[in-house]
Amino acid sequence: MIECILPNIYRIEIPLPKNPLKALNSYLIKDPRRNLLVDTGFNLEACRDAMDQALQELGIDMEETDLFITHLHTDHSGLVQHLSRPNNTVWMGKDDAEMFEANMREDLFIQTAGTLLFRSGLLLDGVPNHPQEEATAKYADRAFVPVSVVREGDIFLRGGYTWQAISTPGHTAGHMCLYEAQHKILIAGDHILDKITPNLGLWSFKYDVLGQYIPSLEKIAALEVELVLPGHRNLIADVRGRIEEIKQHHERRLQDVLQSLGKGKKTAAQVAQHMQWDLSYKHWDEFPLNQKMHAAAEAMAHLYHLVLRDQLIMSEDKGILYFQPAF
Ligand SMILES: [Zn+2]
Repeated sequence: MIECILPNIYRIEIPLPKNPLKALNSYLIKDPRRNLLVDTGFNLEACRDAMDQALQELGIDMEETDLFITHLHTDHSGLVQHLSRPNNTVWMGKDDAEMFEANMREDLFIQTAGTLLFRSGLLLDGVPNHPQEEATAKYADRAFVPVSVVREGDIFLRGGYTWQAISTPGHTAGHMCLYEAQHKILIAGDHILDKITPNLGLWSFKYDVLGQYIPSLEKIAALEVELVLPGHRNLIADVRGRIEEIKQHHERRLQDVLQSLGKGKKTAAQVAQHMQWDLSYKHWDEFPLNQKMHAAAEAMAHLYHLVLRDQLIMSEDKGILYFQPAF
């Protein structure tokens, strides 16, 4: 499905089969000199077909189209290899570009997911040791393509608009948005979504995910934005209102996490089971392994943030991480 949002700006809906997000919004900015395509869909036949058909309908030649990937998650980056050409450029934020290139080596990715399965306590909880079930592992294309790093303030003149790259770490460490100041438009990737709150997962202790995300929300709240083009679901008009809701959601979540710990000592997997999830499954046991991993990573992001705020103590026993109240 293609929708013309504003002159030269098209939304292409890419279906995400069997995924709770349902579809990805890819955006095409049409320009007689060079087009810009933002985000792609999974490396899956259904996504490839939808993208190829849309590009054909819009009369787009990928030789004359660069790719801007808001972040490395495979629903956004999975078709990069399919769409890259010798003469086009693939843009991505620095941390994500590095991870994207590392993930082209499947063994490195499996290692990260395997570490989470183990350290979060999910294996103790009886889930199978299948790190390859993580969606990134399944829906990535491992063929190597070079990625160019986009930095804060980089400008893209496309479609009669002036797009400015804005660094918004949180959902991923290298997440980037595109801002058009004159028309007050933000292409937001998964930084701000309507109805669903972007997943925040901790996969590496290099980052305080929440500590990055909240300031990135405030950075956008300080801009004049009248229309948000998000990576999933509906366009958003009231960006400040939505940012406020998302901030409150995480404040509540931190309280939930503290409450579910009580006086005890728990793993991230145990905490995840007691958190509220925006999913259609009734019980934790029904979560597919991929969703359990993402839930544990999100619990870990909140737990680790509380550790850094001195509200929790983190300890380790036989490689598994445990969290308990500091007081
Ligand atoms: Zn996404």
